Amino acid sequence: MVHGGRLARRVRTRALYTGEPYSDLKGRTVFDNVVPIPMAATKDQEFLESEVLRTFGGYGEWLAHPVGIARLRLASDGSLAVWLDSHAEMHPIRRPPEWLPGTIFPFSQTLVGMLLPRVRPDGELSGIPRLRLVSVRGGDLIVSLVGTTSRMTLHGAPGTQWKADIAEFHRTLDLSGETPLWASGSLTAAEREFERDVPGVTRSAHDLAWLGSGLLRRVALFHTVNSAYRTRFWTNPDRKTGGEWIFEFATRRDVPVEHDAFIARLTDRQWGLPLAVRHHFCMCDHDALWDRECSYTLAHTGDERGRLHLRFQHVRRDADENDHARRDFAEIGSSEAWLDRVLPDPPGREASVTDDVRERRKQYWQRAIESRHRSR
Ligand SMILES: [Zn+2]
Repeated sequence: MVHGGRLARRVRTRALYTGEPYSDLKGRTVFDNVVPIPMAATKDQEFLESEVLRTFGGYGEWLAHPVGIARLRLASDGSLAVWLDSHAEMHPIRRPPEWLPGTIFPFSQTLVGMLLPRVRPDGELSGIPRLRLVSVRGGDLIVSLVGTTSRMTLHGAPGTQWKADIAEFHRTLDLSGETPLWASGSLTAAEREFERDVPGVTRSAHDLAWLGSGLLRRVALFHTVNSAYRTRFWTNPDRKTGGEWIFEFATRRDVPVEHDAFIARLTDRQWGLPLAVRHHFCMCDHDALWDRECSYTLAHTGDERGRLHLRFQHVRRDADENDHARRDFAEIGSSEAWLDRVLPDPPGREASVTDDVRERRKQYWQRAIESRHRSR
């Protein structure tokens, strides 16, 4: 059964990119041979997906999966559903003092505030401009962009109460005097003004949409292929180039940085995005006493605007984490298999700052001070 073997391989590859369970994929006997991961069907759809992904980047806390999305469902009609992580752990540095260590809270609650647009009495807009709530069906929140056919389903973890979360959020807006915009049937004056006031930002968001949507449709790569335990990302607008998506990955020092494997998957001719590496700087061979960072800048192989900047950081564990990182991730739902790969226990010698490293750092500074004295 040559054919069966090839199909099985395609199912495995697709799962690597999208996180779709084998049981979902096995039933589908035909994938598009040329484009096995469908693109968004329209520019509006692309923009919606990109803006939602960008919102997840602003979150900054720990979630079970690097982006907070466990998996996708990509239907053959081009529509997209994402399966969200359930709870988040606030980073120890940002945790309010009254919160006990280990406090975890439902991700859906925070997400409602990040996604839904509203305007303050002074005109300041928050949330995603133009985003509209289409419906809530059980654990599914369906959103769209006003006046378009775009659609995206956010599938909450079991127990998610979107209706209660939205009602609660509405109450906080009443108290602060903000006006919700997510139910308006047309583009509001506040949204029009926002776009007029920051045309560069709006233009960049459109320039970067092909990348945002393309990355979201391959979101599982961040946990199936990459070796980072922490992923941060954001966008920088730029009128000239179209701006950039920046991803910062932290991999523990005793775990191999998999940047070549990750970039190979991301730029794969059949499964990846039409991207090519334009610049790179690799420090893997450097015997740095401090954290290392390998950086890669990728751009479209054709003429789409916008760039992707990837920073692979190789960090010692005590750089910004505590000794309980692995346990904290397990508590919010990270799988043991993923943790065994990105935060193996017990940590290797390279994982933390040892006395030897401390001593070498001291010597480094002594030499630096001496050479500065000599040069005077
Ligand atoms: Zn490197």
